Amino acid sequence: MHRLHFDNSFIRELPGDPETGPRQRQVRYALFSRVKPTPVAAPRLVAHSAEVAALLGIAPKNIDTTDFAQVFAGNAPIEGMQPFAANYGGHQFGHWAGQLGDGRAISLGETINAAGERWELQLKGAGPTPYSRSADGRAVLRSSLREFLCSEAMHHLGVPTTRALSLITTGETVVRDMLYDGNPRGEPGAIVCRVAPSFLRFGNFELPATRGDLPLLEQLVDFTLRRDFPALADSGHRGEALRAAWFAEVCERSAKMIAHWMRVGFVHGVMNTDNMSILGLTIDYGPYGWIDDYDPGWTPNTTDARGRRYAFGRQAEIAYWNLSQLARALSPLFDDPEPLHAGLEHYIDTYTAADRRNIAAKLGLGECRDSDVKLMADLQHLLHTAEVDMTLFFRGLADLDPMVTDPTALNDAFYDIQKRQDAIPAFTQWLARYAARLDADPLSTTERRTRMRAANPRYVLRNYLAQQAIERAEQGDNSGIHELLDVLRHPYDDQPGRETFAQRRPDWARNRAGCSLLSCSS
Ligand code: AMP
Ligand code: MG
Repeated sequence: MHRLHFDNSFIRELPGDPETGPRQRQVRYALFSRVKPTPVAAPRLVAHSAEVAALLGIAPKNIDTTDFAQVFAGNAPIEGMQPFAANYGGHQFGHWAGQLGDGRAISLGETINAAGERWELQLKGAGPTPYSRSADGRAVLRSSLREFLCSEAMHHLGVPTTRALSLITTGETVVRDMLYDGNPRGEPGAIVCRVAPSFLRFGNFELPATRGDLPLLEQLVDFTLRRDFPALADSGHRGEALRAAWFAEVCERSAKMIAHWMRVGFVHGVMNTDNMSILGLTIDYGPYGWIDDYDPGWTPNTTDARGRRYAFGRQAEIAYWNLSQLARALSPLFDDPEPLHAGLEHYIDTYTAADRRNIAAKLGLGECRDSDVKLMADLQHLLHTAEVDMTLFFRGLADLDPMVTDPTALNDAFYDIQKRQDAIPAFTQWLARYAARLDADPLSTTERRTRMRAANPRYVLRNYLAQQAIERAEQGDNSGIHELLDVLRHPYDDQPGRETFAQRRPDWARNRAGCSLLSCSS
């Protein structure tokens, strides 16, 4: 650990808040505040990601040590760490919310690994910062475990995401009213060490823009280009053309990220602009959820239950809305807004193309023809009305031979026997169309199956699986986390003996807190 090499460019090159410490305040003319993690009573390592440790160059023998738990709980900074909280704003549920900032995340510094890659280390739940507003700066075990497991699972699914090095319990109690229903209780506290090349969000750009602080906005944009988009910065573009190319790149990455979410059935749950990464990474795992029965209107977030702004099927549209807010924030840096419009158009084109690639891959076709878009839409409609498990269905579809099989081979994917009965004729018809389409496709059966299995995971972090691991961990048994983490390392492989992790959601989990209802309380 002592070998971590730090190069803290963000706080070195950009204006910071002259005041240090966690006093609550509006911070102007500055992009961050220096603030130290507040030490915790008794840090204990619950889980770590071996892949992320290796990425950072932390040797296995250094992980299960008191030292490691002390450092990554924020109790014992090591040489080179310069902790800070970033200052950003955001649009929450469609409304400008003003200054938000890292209210409980504290970045320890930017490490450079042996390969020369930059990885910022950030503790979530490390104590109050100037941006904590009335909250405590802490996080509970259940939400920390969910972030830790899901960000690693997403990485292994091939979805752009922030990573997680460690999950540490603090030995302290944190009081939360989990469902905001007047029942606060003490819960075990925890800290996740998140890892990403950059944690910058759309909201970091929006805040100086809404305050009319153009010099600060410009400094941040130039810095981001230099540090986080070096290929673009070296591309020969200059001035406004460079910024335009950058905005288009942000649009492109966001589109690809959302297309991945739609492919694997991930619902973020709180796509506020402060939760949108400038690098197009999935960031801030809160009341997220995974689709069990296919339902574009489903949102895991109880706070969003009425408006359903962040429902599964709206994510592409919301990302576009968020990018429009980013464009608005950046517009003072452009004489002519046209390149920003072009960036947004590029989002639509990129998303449309990625969606078509998803269709081809999920159905195992050599390419997506125009009629295949309809074939997929009709299937999705069937999956929705007949209440069919998305993950099980697509995986099962790869295994069957649609020329000779009827839909009963996919019985496991249905949640409701009556709806299944009613839907058999429609599925039989659809399978016949699919069989005819496959007949006209150049891919062999083996190629089709390989393609489908690489796009349709066998294992995802179903909400109830995470909840079971949480309940065991709260009783002091961490084996559920370790087992899940291990299963989710190879989400596209059939893992004999681990079939239970691939089953459809059990009935008891249908309407249960933590399994289908989640709140922002974390
Ligand atoms: P989120 O909805 O998790 O993205 O959080 C929105 C804002 O609230 C961010 O500025 C967070 O840092 C802040 N926040 C959330 N929970 C806490 C907490 N327990 N203590 C301090 N700030 C928090
Ligand atoms: Mg957030």
